[in-house]
Amino acid sequence: MKIAILSRNPNLYSTRRLVEAGVQRGHEVQVIDTLRAYMNIASHKPQIHYRGRALEGFDAVIPRIGASVTFYGCAVLRQFEMMGVFPLNESVAISRSRDKLRSLQLLSRKGIGLPVTGFAHSPDDVPDLIRMVGGAPLVIKVLEGTQGIGVVLCETEKAAESVIEAFMGLKQDIMVQEYIQEAGGADIRCFVVGDKVIAAMKRQAKPGEFRSNLHRGGSASLIKITPEERSTAIRAARVMGLNVAGVDILRSNHGPLVMEVNSSPGLEGIESTTGKDIAGLVIEYLEKNACPGATRTRGKG
Ligand code: ADP
Repeated sequence: MKIAILSRNPNLYSTRRLVEAGVQRGHEVQVIDTLRAYMNIASHKPQIHYRGRALEGFDAVIPRIGASVTFYGCAVLRQFEMMGVFPLNESVAISRSRDKLRSLQLLSRKGIGLPVTGFAHSPDDVPDLIRMVGGAPLVIKVLEGTQGIGVVLCETEKAAESVIEAFMGLKQDIMVQEYIQEAGGADIRCFVVGDKVIAAMKRQAKPGEFRSNLHRGGSASLIKITPEERSTAIRAARVMGLNVAGVDILRSNHGPLVMEVNSSPGLEGIESTTGKDIAGLVIEYLEKNACPGATRTRGKG
């Protein structure tokens, strides 16, 4: 197979590992800087050019599109789809997953367990919004945040009101969420490929912190997940339309709650924690599924 990897940086661990695994399994792999790919949209024959030449003959494309380039990255990916190239994850599914609120709405529609979450525009509605999600303690999240930045725990309703008002004053969209205290500062990252959880790890926040992000000093360890957690992760990825996803789950007293479904899950933490060849399993998925024109949406929508 000829595989394209859309990535801004060939030196990132995940990109490097995907190249390595692809080559090891006998494929031709090219890393394409997402922002340097350009397209001819008017043409009947959709094309992508890169450094002065047309990209041709690809069987599959692996999008590793960072949050800050979602818009342009999804346009490039959509162009690949229109050319009949099989995407590991489709552009529509990636756009969907990048909108935290839209993702939660889609997941809730399918009955997947979620922390109770509220969203409002006007500061006048804040007191009732807080009541709606069950009062303090509360977690407030900036919608565009990543790696735990913009996620705040408010122990009292007064604190929550002030923080919400401050974010609203800064014109930041936020959501307000029930705090899952019993999770004990831990969450579970389930790495889904196709209809399987191929690896899982527990991330534990450092003492005095409730955010378990590795970027915030959290530590990762092996964990055995329950059948319910496994099926929740698989269903969440399917609802989002993602073939490959990192599903973050909180263990609550009333079962697994999905916090987020990530469409470009990192490989470093999960490979080093589990010792598994995740990159190889991702390439294997493409070997089994990438046939020309098999894209569900072919760039529509
Ligand atoms: P980001 O996408 O920026 O990583 P998250 O929504 O994943 O933001 O939150 C960061 C971390 O904060 C999570 O990994 C989890 O440990 C903790 N956390 C988030 N929401 C809750 C919640 N409702 N209850 C308990 N802990 C939470």
